[in-house]
Formats: sequence, structure tokens, C-alpha cells
Amino acid sequence: MFAGRKVRFGSYGNPTLIPLRIVQRIAGIADGWTGYFHNWRELGKAKARKWNRFFMASTETVESLQTAKKWGLRVFHASPVKPDGLLECVADSHGIECIDCMLCAGGKNAKDIWIDPHGSKKKKAVLAATK
Ligand code: SF4
Repeated sequence: MFAGRKVRFGSYGNPTLIPLRIVQRIAGIADGWTGYFHNWRELGKAKARKWNRFFMASTETVESLQTAKKWGLRVFHASPVKPDGLLECVADSHGIECIDCMLCAGGKNAKDIWIDPHGSKKKKAVLAATK
């Protein structure tokens, strides 16, 4: 059912609830995937790094970004403030959809991604960024 398809892990929840071996199998046959996990701190550095092979570590504050980078994680940073060196999500910068981009697939060999949250998430992001 996943062969040749592009998968968005965690559309309805944290994808680290899926056993890692199943994620590995899905990713192994899929045409590509995206995924984000929020509980990287709770998992601890070693486990978070394993999950980060597949999913982006979500960060919202300068402190969480710094910690995730210290842990060697690739991040998806949502904040009204763009940190140096992060690539703006191409959906915002170029109007490209995730299915045609697929940059948010964890791993280590691509830039971290930044997005300026909009809509209902904007207010929460502004509060988080000022913590
Ligand atoms: S960078 Fe943006 S468009 Fe590309 S996969 Fe990530 S969220 Fe989607």
C-alpha cells in the first residue's frame, strides 16, 4: 500500500508512536516521505537521533533550536524569526507543495527548514519565540 507512494507521516499525531521498524519498512518502499516529531526531548538524544533519520525535529524557540542542533538533529523550526542558515520552507518561498518538495524527511545531508507560521498558529509561535 505504500510502494511507490509519497507518505506524510504523522498527519494525525506524533509519528514516533509508530514502531521504528515499521517506519523503516514504509520508508524503504515509499517514493518519499515527510514527517515531524515534537517529543525529541522526551525521547532523549540517542533515540531522537534514530527517529531523526526519518523525521524532522520540531522546534519553536531559540533554546529548543540550539539544543536540537547540539544533539545533531535536523530541524523544522517554526518561528516568526528566521535563524541564519536555515532554508525557508519552499511552500512559502516558491509555492511548491510538500509532495513535490519532500525536503522534510529527516536525515543529515540537507539544510534545516524554517517556516514563519501563519493562521491560527501565528500567535502561539510569537509567544514561544519570545520565551
Ligand atoms: S520544506 Fe516546506 S514544502 Fe518542503 S517538505 Fe518541508 S514543509 Fe513541505
